[in-house]
Amino acid sequence: MPGGPALYMFDSGTLGLGGVDVPVPFFLIRHPQGDVLVDGGNPLAVAHDPHAHWGALAEQFEVHMSEEQHCAAQLRRLGVGPQSVGHVVQTHLHIDHTGALGHFPDATIVVHARELRAARAAEAPIASGYVREDYERPELRWQTAEGELDLFGDGTIRLLETPGHSAGHMSLLLDLEETGPVLLTADAADNRAQWEGREHPRALFSREDARRSLERLRELAHQTDALLVLGHEPDDWSRLKHSPDCYT
Ligand SMILES: [Zn+2]
Repeated sequence: MPGGPALYMFDSGTLGLGGVDVPVPFFLIRHPQGDVLVDGGNPLAVAHDPHAHWGALAEQFEVHMSEEQHCAAQLRRLGVGPQSVGHVVQTHLHIDHTGALGHFPDATIVVHARELRAARAAEAPIASGYVREDYERPELRWQTAEGELDLFGDGTIRLLETPGHSAGHMSLLLDLEETGPVLLTADAADNRAQWEGREHPRALFSREDARRSLERLRELAHQTDALLVLGHEPDDWSRLKHSPDCYT
């Protein structure tokens, strides 16, 4: 097929995490079989009033986000309308990854079955990292993955099970024509310190699973020599290409 997938990187502003302002990334993959959004950064409501939407979590994570930084607005600036997105892949459903939900009416929302179960059972956002209003929307059409998933069956977008940070967390391994493999760890590794073993991964679900998942991703990165994109790493993020530039 003429032209393989193109990967666009965005952020919906920053969050204060451990005293550092970190980016809140999301990704668009323009694939010959359709546009795929990976996470959506922060919900739009957060740009208006973070306390109203996140409650006490807004104090824990100081957010900097404008309306123009919401995923739907940034995609529109790239010429990608809401109807064009066929899939939204959720690495997980924590508060800073759910910005796409409810904004792409024709999209199938892909998430690991364990993640959706955990999010639906979650109680207090302050402990769990979930805000039910983000994903408890009757209009959403879910596709739950029970294991790993090759989204289009062509090896270009592979969803990997990397639990630990959350119950059904997934990372993505992409295969682009020019760039080659790209590993989107999402929150399986927030930053270089975690990636290099100087800090523990941020495990809201299971430390042991998080450690195993990170070990597996390191091995995979080593084997494939993938371009590494960590979940919330400010220094790396500033060196990567952002939309409207892209990786092909
Ligand atoms: Zn998270």
